[in-house]
Amino acid sequence: MSKYTSTFLNTPIEYLKGVGPQKGDLLRKELGIFCYGDLLLHFPFRYVDKTQITKIKDFPTNGEAVQCVVRIMQIDIVGEGFKKRLVASAKDDTGEIELIWFQGITWVSKNLQIGDVVVVYGKPQLFMNTISITHPEVDKWNLQAPSQQAFEPVYSCTEKLKARSITSKSLMQFVRAILPQLQELDVPDMIPNAVLLHQQLMPRYFAIKEVHWPQNLKQQQQSTYRLKFEELFIQQMNICKTKRNRSNTLGLVFGQVGNIFTEFYNHYLPFALTDDQKKVIKEIRRDTTTGLQMNRLLQGDVGSGKTIVALLSLLIAIGNGYQACLIAPTETLAQQHFVGMKELLKDLPIEIKILTGSIKGKERKTILADLESGTLQLIIGTHALMEDKVVFKNLGMAVIDEQHKFGVAQRASIWRKNTTPPHILVMTATPIPRTLAMTTYGDLDVSTIEHLPAGRKPITTVHRTDAHRLKVFEFVKEQVHKGRQVYIVYPLIEESEKLDYENLMQGYEQVKSFFPEYQYKLSMVHGRQTAQEREINMKRFIEGDTQIMVATTVIEVGVNVPNASVMVIESAERFGLTQLHQLRGRVGRGSEHSYCILLTGNKISKDGKERIHTMVTEINGFKIAEKDLQLRGPGDLSGTQQSGIVELKIADLVADVAILEKARESAIAILDDDPNLQKDENYFLRSYLEKDVMRSVWQKIS
Ligand code: ADP
Ligand code: MG
Repeated sequence: MSKYTSTFLNTPIEYLKGVGPQKGDLLRKELGIFCYGDLLLHFPFRYVDKTQITKIKDFPTNGEAVQCVVRIMQIDIVGEGFKKRLVASAKDDTGEIELIWFQGITWVSKNLQIGDVVVVYGKPQLFMNTISITHPEVDKWNLQAPSQQAFEPVYSCTEKLKARSITSKSLMQFVRAILPQLQELDVPDMIPNAVLLHQQLMPRYFAIKEVHWPQNLKQQQQSTYRLKFEELFIQQMNICKTKRNRSNTLGLVFGQVGNIFTEFYNHYLPFALTDDQKKVIKEIRRDTTTGLQMNRLLQGDVGSGKTIVALLSLLIAIGNGYQACLIAPTETLAQQHFVGMKELLKDLPIEIKILTGSIKGKERKTILADLESGTLQLIIGTHALMEDKVVFKNLGMAVIDEQHKFGVAQRASIWRKNTTPPHILVMTATPIPRTLAMTTYGDLDVSTIEHLPAGRKPITTVHRTDAHRLKVFEFVKEQVHKGRQVYIVYPLIEESEKLDYENLMQGYEQVKSFFPEYQYKLSMVHGRQTAQEREINMKRFIEGDTQIMVATTVIEVGVNVPNASVMVIESAERFGLTQLHQLRGRVGRGSEHSYCILLTGNKISKDGKERIHTMVTEINGFKIAEKDLQLRGPGDLSGTQQSGIVELKIADLVADVAILEKARESAIAILDDDPNLQKDENYFLRSYLEKDVMRSVWQKIS
């Protein structure tokens, strides 16, 4: 099926003059540009304002690029070997500069003559009283040439392309070769007229022309705005439509809360639920009675008590004669949930088992058989549960813990576990900033636990440099003597894995020498151990056999040891904000005052400083998540990458929140008025959405 409705847009890219089969191949591979339409949708990511001419005496010293008009006075080739360069001296009426080329010397010397008046664009540098520009862009000065008077688009372009001399400039020329042939009918406006008017957007045809070839700042801004709006609007149409369609997905009806739930609630609940927990359970209970499938996201800060909500939800399903499962992202966490829930349910007539990658052979076979026959009602596990081999007799409820660790496709695999899809509750401790709530998670209903259970002591967070490590260890010792437990966490980043492991081991030796084994007991947990080793170490710490846990971030997620009251984070500047917050959430779970100590080197980057400062001053997970989004941009946020949803061509979820909100409002208004987009004015919108490439992704979720 062709990608665009217009034959012109579907023209293969190699047909374009100057492209041909070889370059065409590269454009396809490197930029995903297959046809004219793809090229037109490859938008510039910035512009160079070539309308500004700066006099040499006014050159900025901050490294910003400038444009000047100069006369070439002299041309020399100097130096040898890799220092060989072409130096052109040039001046305007206020000063002199040197233009320097290390590469392309032959080409430059052929094309540049003494006496030429040229427009130079580049970043000036000041060295020993001489101003120079290395590898400037140079054009002959020509008052008539409009390109010199306009905004020049800059296109993203890979190294491979540049090596084959396809540069941003070539892309600009390709685009400009096809723009004049573009007809309004090739790019019909999918945004309905009423929205165009209300949001003051320019028509699509003009936006596409002007974004590539703006005549002035206003055109550049208005066309960019229109295209950003369009992108977010289409995204929101997809999300909101999916959500509405899904409201038609039939779900299992749980006619009662069930005896098991009531029994547990009345006699075995280990503590009184907080109001927020009760509220969420009511929401879940209500969802399971409607006859439609539940798709609910439960967000609550670390330690807010999501686990008990999960358990109660599972019990509702079981009480209605269905099977239930809980899926955790790591083996350790699954194990902990398993042990905890088994303990809580020990006096109730429910069988509970665990299934992870390390459970093999006969044990695994039995579990699989019991799930299929329905004799096993409750199963806790890891990704292993999502595999197709795992067949349930009648799965009624699936809870996915720490959802951000899973991809969208994995979430979708749960849908297939029953002919009528089970109810799904996904939980996350990474609070979701507004923008992501509207995008990545926009298709879910959201429940929030805002307040932590009462009686939590605050966590004091401090920043210390390496020089204070001994003092920090002294403090740790004091705490251990008071009967507390302590985490000491080391970074482990993929790119520097080997080095990081060495650091971890060194750190472990250092801790051991400070806390000798005859007096203190240590656990160590990291990814290079076997699952069994990890588990033993974890278990000893959880049970209080060991006092200090030295670990990498494998303990980041979900682990619960209420007696642990100190979290020491080594090289804290290397962690992301969300990660730091997650780690800090491991303490402050008991009744003791807790401490989080961020150890860093003396020199930290600006962003690193900002992260540390945020941690020291802010305890609210939502605020921290917003800050994280600001500092890192959405592409990096955990979970969004795998989800593949936040792939935007032109809009930016951080910078363009205001546009996102307007786009969402418009999308909702249209769907309220015309749910199936049957009205004439929505014709192009409907056909666009039907062709939209993102559609497949959205269908996978729904
Ligand atoms: P998270 O939301 O991070 O998964 P958990 O469910 O692990 O949090 O709960 C953190 C701790 O708080 C656990 O020790 C749990 O037993 C305790 N807890 C949960 N709810 C309550 C409550 N209502 N009252 C007291 N303690 C609670
Ligand atoms: Mg948890």
